[in-house]
Amino acid sequence: MLFPKEKKIFCPKCKKHTKHKLKEFKSGAARTMAAGTRRHERNTKHGYLGKYKYTVLVKKQNKKPTFIAECAECKQKIPYTLGKRMKKVTQQ
Ligand SMILES: [Zn+2]
Repeated sequence: MLFPKEKKIFCPKCKKHTKHKLKEFKSGAARTMAAGTRRHERNTKHGYLGKYKYTVLVKKQNKKPTFIAECAECKQKIPYTLGKRMKKVTQQ
C-alpha cells in the first residue's frame, strides 16, 4: 500500500491537528537483563525443557504497520498505527 510521508493528525501536546512526519517503526534489540528475557531463558534453557507457553497453530501472514509520528511544531513523537494487516507499505 502507498502511504504518505507527512500527514495531518492530532497532537496531544499542542492539543490540535498539526503536520506530522511519519517514519516506519522498527523494534530495537531485546534487553538481555529485562525480567521477561530472564524468565524466558530460565524456562527454555534450564532443566529438562518441558513445553513452555502455548504453541501457535496458525501463524499470521502479515503484520499491522506501525509508524512513529513526529509533530512539526513541538517535535513530540507518538505512535501511529494503521488498523489493517498488509504485506508491504511504501511511503511516497
Ligand atoms: Zn505538537
